[in-house]
Amino acid sequence: MSQRINILPENVTNKIAAGEVVERPASVIKELIENSLDAGATDISVEITAGGRRLIRITDNGHGMSREDALLSLERHATSKIRCDSDLESILTLGFRGEALPSIASVSRFSLASREADSLEGTEIVVEGGRVREVKTCGMAPGTVITVEQIFFNMPARLKFMKSAETETGHVADVVARMSVSRPDVAFSCISDERELLRLQRSDLQRRLAQVVGKDSSQHLYPINGGDEYTTLSGFVSAPSLVRSGTQAIYTYINGRFIRDKVVQHAVMLAYRGVIDRGRYPVVALFIELPPGEVDVNVHPTKHEVRFRRQSVVHEAIQGAIEEVLRRSPWLAVPPVSLHVPTTSTGQAYRERIAAAAQVSLALVSPQQYRSPSTDQIGKVPAAPVVTQQRTHSVSETEVAFQPDQLPAEQFPEKTRGYFSSLSIIGQFHSEYILCQSDTELVMIDQHAASERVAYQLLKQQCQSGKIESQRLLFPETLELTFSEVAAAVRFNQELAGIGFELEPFGGTTILISAAPRLVARKNPSLLIRDILADLEKFGTSGAFNDALENLLSRIACHSVIRGTHPLEHRQISELLSRMDSTDFAASCPHGRPVSHVVTLAELQKIFKRT
Ligand code: ADP
Ligand code: MG
Repeated sequence: MSQRINILPENVTNKIAAGEVVERPASVIKELIENSLDAGATDISVEITAGGRRLIRITDNGHGMSREDALLSLERHATSKIRCDSDLESILTLGFRGEALPSIASVSRFSLASREADSLEGTEIVVEGGRVREVKTCGMAPGTVITVEQIFFNMPARLKFMKSAETETGHVADVVARMSVSRPDVAFSCISDERELLRLQRSDLQRRLAQVVGKDSSQHLYPINGGDEYTTLSGFVSAPSLVRSGTQAIYTYINGRFIRDKVVQHAVMLAYRGVIDRGRYPVVALFIELPPGEVDVNVHPTKHEVRFRRQSVVHEAIQGAIEEVLRRSPWLAVPPVSLHVPTTSTGQAYRERIAAAAQVSLALVSPQQYRSPSTDQIGKVPAAPVVTQQRTHSVSETEVAFQPDQLPAEQFPEKTRGYFSSLSIIGQFHSEYILCQSDTELVMIDQHAASERVAYQLLKQQCQSGKIESQRLLFPETLELTFSEVAAAVRFNQELAGIGFELEPFGGTTILISAAPRLVARKNPSLLIRDILADLEKFGTSGAFNDALENLLSRIACHSVIRGTHPLEHRQISELLSRMDSTDFAASCPHGRPVSHVVTLAELQKIFKRT
């Protein structure tokens, strides 16, 4: 009788568990910060080199561990946070699975040094790929220092999936930033390759948020308070004028734990439905407090997902509380903001803002040196700021004029007389569609889709012939980003220049847009660049940029034209038609929607029962 089944040795099970918990340097840092917070630390510093691929070190001033506990902490399922199954229903700590330390230690060269406050010396344990190599006493301050070197050195498959140092650094800084928002009473710092990315003193939520989402953005945040007998809600939500192209600035926490949850996100987005455009997302820091028995955090090893006992109650509470803020607040009474070329006074305001920002920023630093402004430079967020009209991130696209003649004429040297220009123009329907005829055909053209297609083709031609035409902005715009987006801006700087953008670091996570593709320079280039960076953030290499090029061009084209109704003069219609002929025009817009539709005379006659 043969025996097929074996129990796996612990170094293998740890590696398997590591596969779930330790995806990249940022996930190691998340676990280690959770441990430091659970240990009551009030000061946590994170240090990485090469994006954490070479080294990660977390130092805290928490309660530390005795020699025995330090040794035990590296065993699988060893935890001080729960004792029996019923404890799972009342978890108040961030950790409880007892998996992080053994998992991390099994896939790296690891060392743990820890000292309890009442002990004279600390203990240092050195582990390599899960095997304890050395245990010794050491001199150190009370607290814990964990060092993780050469992560995945013994898992070549994982190593291959790691992105560039800049990308990993971006993820690390984002993790530190979002955990720091959950605990403004704890000081955090994050140093990458000896440069300081973040230094956050102990403060309150308003100030902490101002440092994390940017001082300008924080002025558009409003406090939220709500809940019912089960749920307490608090935090800040943004005015509809402050939007992002993705969910990256929606920070949600349940009982202090950062989570990404569909129910929560859905409730947030429902509250904003109707006040922000589709595809735009607010800036939100939402803290949900529930009795531990009302929520199960033991759903996934990373503890990012949760299950609610009373899902709809939580959903309603969140949606209701946000809607309440949106209803009460001043912007809904404000008439639509016009975003036409700045007048002298708004221009003045831009200059003043930039001058002020320049004072805050720690001077223009080289791309790898972006730093965060220090606390004392950040003003307090006003409780109910007056919404200013100088600038908004959310442009209602109907406000910008539809102007086919904004396309530079010199790009179309000869006006080809092709199909579209040969049509005879009947007129415009609903200020949205162009009606033309050709012999026995009625041709209907979606003017928005057509001009988008023309812009797209033009961009493609320019791109093929070397460079997209760029225009310097009269008033360079500053833009606050997440760390990952800044990392993408730095990484793809050359490529972005090739498509017409000039971006410079401007201190902290702010960048300055000094030039944009000509087709969009007078629109809202910051909204566009935010979308593009959110796309690029997911890419590691410049090869990926080229793969995404067509998408990016279509994004630029989309931003260059105007949706909604717009009356056109006969001259403008014929201009558009001849441009449709002089570009390599396909019958659908870059999004795949049709541009034109033909109804034949025969079809009409059928409708009118003339046949
Ligand atoms: P968990 O956090 O789920 O308990 P971990 O593997 O992350 O599991 O940690 C194991 C144990 O080691 C913790 O329960 C805690 O007692 C101890 N520990 C880990 N990190 C620290 C730290 N920074 N300070 C003090 N104790 C720590
Ligand atoms: Mg833990």
